[in-house]
Amino acid sequence: MINNLLSNDLVAFLYLISGVFFILGIRGLSSPETARAGNYLSMSGMALAFIVTIFSLSDPSILNLILILAGISIGGLIGTILSKRVAMTDMPQMVAALNSMGGLSAVLVAWAAFLSPIAFELVSTDGSIKTLSKIEMILGILVGAITFSGSVVAFLKLQGLMKSAPIILPFRHILSIVIISLIVSCSYLIISGTESSQLLFLAISLLSLLLGLLLIIPIGGADMPVVIAVLNSYSGFAAAIIGFTLSNLALVITGALVGSSGAILSYIMCVAMNRSFFSVIMGGFGDEVGGGAQVKETRPVKIGSADDAAFILKNASSVIIVPGYGMAVARAQNSLKEMVDKLKEMGIKVTYAIHPVAGRMPGHMNVLLAEADVPYDDIYELSEINSDFAQADVAFVIGANDVTNPAAKSDPQSPIFGMPILEVENAKTVLFVKRSLGIGYAGIDNDLFYRENTMMLLDDAKKMSEDISASI
Ligand code: NDP
Repeated sequence: MINNLLSNDLVAFLYLISGVFFILGIRGLSSPETARAGNYLSMSGMALAFIVTIFSLSDPSILNLILILAGISIGGLIGTILSKRVAMTDMPQMVAALNSMGGLSAVLVAWAAFLSPIAFELVSTDGSIKTLSKIEMILGILVGAITFSGSVVAFLKLQGLMKSAPIILPFRHILSIVIISLIVSCSYLIISGTESSQLLFLAISLLSLLLGLLLIIPIGGADMPVVIAVLNSYSGFAAAIIGFTLSNLALVITGALVGSSGAILSYIMCVAMNRSFFSVIMGGFGDEVGGGAQVKETRPVKIGSADDAAFILKNASSVIIVPGYGMAVARAQNSLKEMVDKLKEMGIKVTYAIHPVAGRMPGHMNVLLAEADVPYDDIYELSEINSDFAQADVAFVIGANDVTNPAAKSDPQSPIFGMPILEVENAKTVLFVKRSLGIGYAGIDNDLFYRENTMMLLDDAKKMSEDISASI
């Protein structure tokens, strides 16, 4: 039987070591070159934290190794299958689903601690649950349940199982205030110990679930990336709160790391999309999404072939590639790289410009380009390369749309107004690879398709880059 084989100081020290592994892991994720090593470091930190937790349990009666191993095997198997199968383009849904699990875990652990406080050593000398522990459990339930129901809604919206446009309920802010007041009242009664707590605890759980729903349904599809990052941050904070309840330093460290890095990512994304963080959380953005697409377009469009594109590219001295969601859908990164290699062999300077929200998740394009072995030195962020378009001969936009749309600068009515864009229109020629003149994620038409210096290459991104390669 395993029974508290490690001293408290040693446990704290080992948890600290695992925290260092996590921090180095996150550091590794900051560049595609070190991301794999970062993942291995984080996995080692988690393995260490897990082993230490098992060997430091003071109450052996709650330890059932078979159940724990069964849980790890089943969860690990499901996780492995899902991550092998999930398409890169479905990654945001996957993250939303995983966030929901984090939130649900926090709720379940809080309930377990509430139902058997003795096993969790949360009982004070008079036999009641310690006040601080009650507060931690309530916060764990609150943040965990909001994360769970909010992430489920985000998943349904991203998966297309629910309308992605904002659903604005009448009096939603008043409703939220009423719910928050009820949660505060129930919490007060539990903490002051005046009422039978189980029903109140259940009420807090249900009200928090409802609050999560109300918070996320008014948020439109265009703001979903930020919402995912925010929910990710919530799931971390829920874990950290539960870490206090369980007196588990590793959980506090990991939860705080996930919470703070999620919050930083949300902030960075808000800046990238020119959204105010507070407005996104308050919801209701993107009401007008899709409005621009309803106007019937009659302007002439210049449509070219792979041969035309090859001719223009061969005669250029500098080309900037702008990948977007369509490149991910078509899995065109390898054929694009082959095309670029041919251009480079001819002495043409080719670089890649990545918009922070291109694709459907942060870093989406970086991952795909790394997969195709595109040198990291050829890849530039929006702020580093935007001024170079004015000197470029060709902007080769492959499967991107919203991230180049000048309406973000010129049309205050547009749902993407204010979002910084890649200024491809400043290049001498803009080649647009996509299958039609259709809209992108934000649901709005792109004026660039009809500009004098634009040539549309209407085909699947992979097929078009293969054809251009062949023609070169
Ligand atoms: P968009 O969604 O604006 O446009 C993608 C374009 O790709 C479409 O217009 C589509 O046109 C084209 N396309 C689709 N399939 C193919 C194919 N097989 N071959 C060639 N083209 C194809 O993508 P962007 O990357 O420009 O912008 C990202 C958008 O997604 C932004 O609005 C952003 O806010 C949002 N978002 C970003 C997230 C993130 O974290 N990065 C997460 C969630 C949303 P057609 O049908 O004519 O081929």
